[in-house]
Amino acid sequence: MENEKRDFVTTIAQLTDDATIYNQLDTTKNGLSAQAVEKRQVKYGKNILREAKGEPLWLKFVKNFTSLMAILLWVAGLISFVADLTELGIAIWAVNIINGCFSFWQEYRAGKATAALKDMLPAYTRVIRENEEKKILAQELVPGDIVKLEEGDDIPADIRLIHATDVRVDQSTLTGEVNPVSKDARAIKDVTGNHADLRNTIFSGTSMLKGNAIGIVVVTGMSTDFGKIADLTQNVKEDISPLQKELNVLTRQLSALAITIGIAFFLLATFVVHYPVVKAFVFGLGMIVAFIPEGLLPTVTLSLAGAVQRMAQKNALVKKLASVETLGSASVICSDKTGTLTQNQMTVNHLWTTKHSYTVSGEGYEPKGKILEGPKEVKAVDTPDLFELLRGALLADNAKIVAPNEHHKRYQILGDPTEACLEVAASKGGINPELERKVATRIKELPFDSDRKMMTVIEQRVTERKFDTFTKGAPNCVLKQCNSYLEDGKVKTLTAEIRQKIMAANDGYAKQGLRVLAVACQELPTQYRTEIEKATLENVEKNMIFVGLTVMFDPPRKEVRAAAKLCHKAKIKIIMVTGDYSLTAESIARNIGIVPADAAVKVITGEELKEMSDNELKQALKGEIVFARMAPEQKYRVVTNLQQMGEVVAVTGDGVNDAPALKKADIGVAMGITGTDVAKEAADMILTDDNFASIVTAIKEGRGVYSNIRKFLLYILNSNMPEAVPSVLFLLSGGLIPLPLTIMQILSIDLGTDMLPALGLGKEYAEDSVMEKPPRSLKQHLINRKLLLKAFCWYGLWASIISTGAYFFSNYFSGYIFPHLANSGTAYAQATTVTLGAIIFCQIAAVLNCRYEKESMFQRYFWNNSLIFAGIIFEVVLFLALTYVPILQAVFGTAPLEYRDWLFLICIPFPLILIDEIRKLFVRKRLI
Ligand code: ATP
Repeated sequence: MENEKRDFVTTIAQLTDDATIYNQLDTTKNGLSAQAVEKRQVKYGKNILREAKGEPLWLKFVKNFTSLMAILLWVAGLISFVADLTELGIAIWAVNIINGCFSFWQEYRAGKATAALKDMLPAYTRVIRENEEKKILAQELVPGDIVKLEEGDDIPADIRLIHATDVRVDQSTLTGEVNPVSKDARAIKDVTGNHADLRNTIFSGTSMLKGNAIGIVVVTGMSTDFGKIADLTQNVKEDISPLQKELNVLTRQLSALAITIGIAFFLLATFVVHYPVVKAFVFGLGMIVAFIPEGLLPTVTLSLAGAVQRMAQKNALVKKLASVETLGSASVICSDKTGTLTQNQMTVNHLWTTKHSYTVSGEGYEPKGKILEGPKEVKAVDTPDLFELLRGALLADNAKIVAPNEHHKRYQILGDPTEACLEVAASKGGINPELERKVATRIKELPFDSDRKMMTVIEQRVTERKFDTFTKGAPNCVLKQCNSYLEDGKVKTLTAEIRQKIMAANDGYAKQGLRVLAVACQELPTQYRTEIEKATLENVEKNMIFVGLTVMFDPPRKEVRAAAKLCHKAKIKIIMVTGDYSLTAESIARNIGIVPADAAVKVITGEELKEMSDNELKQALKGEIVFARMAPEQKYRVVTNLQQMGEVVAVTGDGVNDAPALKKADIGVAMGITGTDVAKEAADMILTDDNFASIVTAIKEGRGVYSNIRKFLLYILNSNMPEAVPSVLFLLSGGLIPLPLTIMQILSIDLGTDMLPALGLGKEYAEDSVMEKPPRSLKQHLINRKLLLKAFCWYGLWASIISTGAYFFSNYFSGYIFPHLANSGTAYAQATTVTLGAIIFCQIAAVLNCRYEKESMFQRYFWNNSLIFAGIIFEVVLFLALTYVPILQAVFGTAPLEYRDWLFLICIPFPLILIDEIRKLFVRKRLI
């Protein structure tokens, strides 16, 4: 069956005339009917590939129990069992199992969430069905569908080409061959070589790097060549991210620290307090377990997954969890202009010919408005140059205007806004687009590309009108290829003076931030009329007649100004890298606040960049800079140089040629709306609204994640202090001060009450202050001196004083005073329970205090994190259970408390919160 399908593809490739191909695939030039599509969907199924299987679930599950930390806990538990300390062993193992299950659950949910994100970006394709062009989901394609493809599209099925203009495809997914392969629509007589060598067939899973084409779907889904190898491309190993690496190092360091402390405590207990070996051993073991940061890994996953989901709601889809952390350290954003900083909602508002200049009224894509010369309305038919300008612009345009219908109340466009607005302008000038398109049939297109910055169409003349090639593009590029110009309907030689006049008009508009496109035309030299395939870029786009300028306004996006301000505050540099003209680029950059309005800014064009050495470029990159008239390939060089300067670079892109820069950047950002499939594949993040502001929001989330992991560490490390201090007192007093906290009680904090609130910190919202500091250096570690000081010498210190005080307080009320403290019986159990309670209540304050680094906890997000409050309730309930459930009392050595103890405990959080609020106030006022 499979071979049959392969042969079918080859058979279709060998057919010489289109009619037979249509016949064989039971379709027509106008596409399939709705009924035929329905029938074929039933017969052939959806056009999808079977999901490649990843690592089996059981293996992922097991991995959560074999990390270094987990192994340490297994061993600790085992030793406890061997030493006949069953309860301790059970406690340690239980925690290990809970921790492992929880990690797995978090990872599983995060995986599901990222998979769901992929579904938010369905693949579309353009088809002709029932004689109408439609955009459908690629999975709905059936054999016989007529598909239209253009540069940057992913090829959705195995397709026999019917028309092809300059098509180059990337077939590396099929053949491993990285060089682009040319394809055309000619029949193949002798089939040799591989299936992928069929010159007139393009294959699913590959992508179109250049040109445009129309083809017929031959086979879909698993019957395609890619379908057959899809199963082989499984188990792609993901690299481990810098954060994961750091966490591995961190757990290793903390585990080593825990073991060192454990051994030290064991030795001190044996030799200073003269504990029996087994008791000293339990003591040491307890310390080890207490110091291991059990919840760390699930918290990180929870935090990353939460951020990814929040980003998705804010129009930024991250493909890998790990990209979130890189986003947080981004120090430079290289951003496109059109569509990202501006709305890409073009409206032609001026027209210019060498003798006249016009204004155009009306807004949006509704063809309602006038063309005015001064106050006087003009019609194109009365003004030959204006007519040719509008007609040329219209014919060299692939977009379509869709009138309001039952789905949309307003005028919509299909295609590029830069092109669509030209049709609108033509209509305003009294030209009938439908009619003009009928009287001139397009026979060839030399498609637009961002390198030469123009495009040309060749039309078959049906009427007396003279010109048959129409070119539109960047004025400086078009003008270079013109040697004459149109004035009052006559072709005149283009002098240096006229060139200057044209460029002066162009610059005048550009300085106002307007986008200018020139239109040129010419008669197609006769030799190419018969051999149209010889009409190539090199011989058509030269010696052209300049007709005029169309000037369009693209309003800046409203959110960009605030986002740019935020970036400046966060010391993130924004570099505009655009294909547009230097003056337009500079004006917009200033207008939207990307560069300060009055600052000196260096505008470097693509041409100038070519002449610059890397050193010169690096020097220029240190100041305010805008890149204009850039070819997408040049972005790669900019990114590379920035990276060599130690910057973490986010770069935006939408076209095929942007892919190398997107891959090279630390964060490649593709446009969801205007982006090609190729760009989206190369990127790490996709903006569903193409909006620059969404990148900034994502960076804030990224920074938030890192800060959340730190909050978590701060919280769990700080509790180690009050846990350790009582034991140190016990050791240093040579046992004179009985242990204020038993080992089982220490474990009940670390492995019980602390877990949920700590996790809650991982879910915290990114506070605004994360954008008030410079980007984190990649060399900076999660745990630094500041964090340790804050954990041990601030939060930890307060908690140690209070918990140790609580111990003496309880003893005092039970009638014991130092040095005759209770060392057994109910009074001792009560004293240790109060100490335990004091630490737990200190931790309640700590979790609330750790939520925000600088901001007061009493702010708009106070109630937003339900996990924190659930954690606090859980903490208190668990403590109540430990205190009042007899069996737990027996295991943990606790005793019921007096009402005065409760009163004391309940009061603990308030002063702690107050002190920390005062500290934060000083921090905010920059007094400390
Ligand atoms: P950005 O790179 O910021 O998105 P851009 O849209 O100007 O800006 P390109 O798409 O590379 O960048 O376009 C480069 C230039 O080519 C434009 O400034 C314009 O002069 C010209 N141009 C853009 N689109 C077309 C088009 N459809 N037809 C002809 N010329 C075009």
